[in-house]
Amino acid sequence: MNAHDHENKKNLRKLYISVFICILFMTGEVIGGIISGSLAILTDAAHILSDILGFCISIVSMHISQRPATKKMSYGFYRAEVIGALLSIALIWALTTWLFSEAIHRLIHKSSVEGSVMLITAMAGLLGNLIMGFVIGHSHSHSHSHEHDHIDCDSHNHLNNQDHLIKPIINLKEKDVGKTEMLPFEIDSTTCAKGNEKKNILKHNHSKSLNMRAAFLHVIGDALQSIGVIIAGIVIYFYPEYSEADPICTLLFSVIVMFTTMPIIKDCVKVLMEGTPNDINASEIKNKLLNIEGVLEVHEFHIWSLSASKTCMSCHLVAIDPHSSLEKAIFLLKKDYGILNTAIQIELQGEKQTLCCDPSFL
Ligand SMILES: [Zn+2]
Ligand SMILES: [Zn+2]
Ligand SMILES: [Zn+2]
Repeated sequence: MNAHDHENKKNLRKLYISVFICILFMTGEVIGGIISGSLAILTDAAHILSDILGFCISIVSMHISQRPATKKMSYGFYRAEVIGALLSIALIWALTTWLFSEAIHRLIHKSSVEGSVMLITAMAGLLGNLIMGFVIGHSHSHSHSHEHDHIDCDSHNHLNNQDHLIKPIINLKEKDVGKTEMLPFEIDSTTCAKGNEKKNILKHNHSKSLNMRAAFLHVIGDALQSIGVIIAGIVIYFYPEYSEADPICTLLFSVIVMFTTMPIIKDCVKVLMEGTPNDINASEIKNKLLNIEGVLEVHEFHIWSLSASKTCMSCHLVAIDPHSSLEKAIFLLKKDYGILNTAIQIELQGEKQTLCCDPSFL
């Protein structure tokens, strides 16, 4: 518990440092972009803004989701993160649309770009990327050294303290934050609370290395974008008549922004529409419930995500001996699928026609 508090504080401090560095370089790029008249530099600044918003969502959701549920907000505040992600993407799309139309305007009506200022600003932008890469890389090596300890406490939660909901929530949040810190906006679709102990550890390691790869790819992508702007800057510096290189960069980056944010929007909307989580096979779970001894029927079957890493499930279970079947069902869902929030309504054979499924019965 204390170790986790400590870890959370550390993550939070790293997030604040990241935001500070990003704001510094974004401000520099906005000034350099306006002075040089380079749209590509401003597009890069818009990208840094999207990274900043991602960090801010992590910070705010870390504070907000720690708040306990209230009488009026009985689910707590987990989905604040999803709403925040959608709002920030809406802002980024608005900015990108403006940059895109401005780029087309500049392609039609040629405008001059100050090559030297553009080049210097783009190089500073690359430096910013390298610093961010160092900050993110540092957090990787740390989380790696913490890994053994972490897996220990995770598997204890899932195997021994299954009825104790508080601890796993803290763990999931810790995982969420570590992740979002590395890759802004990414919505986590893997739950670590899965399977038996061995499977669990494997899964956990797997998702962690995936996160590292994703964060690394993001840094590489950012660096490539900066290098693209530098190349455009060099071209414009030596051949000022080829100033089209600048809006062409913006058009290219705008398309990339659209493509990279699309899957995140999809995941957010899926959570808000109570869709079945990507990593969950609903028909497999339903079949396993049906295979429980004495279970005759499963209906009103729903699996949805409260937040990216918190799965809920509800269903009606028609059984010969409902109470023993219910116990087995809850155990199955917790042990094999890590679904801790379940609401299962049990019905006796024959009872459902009158009580549950007849719309005229009131
Ligand atoms: Zn831990
Ligand atoms: Zn970025
Ligand atoms: Zn029913």
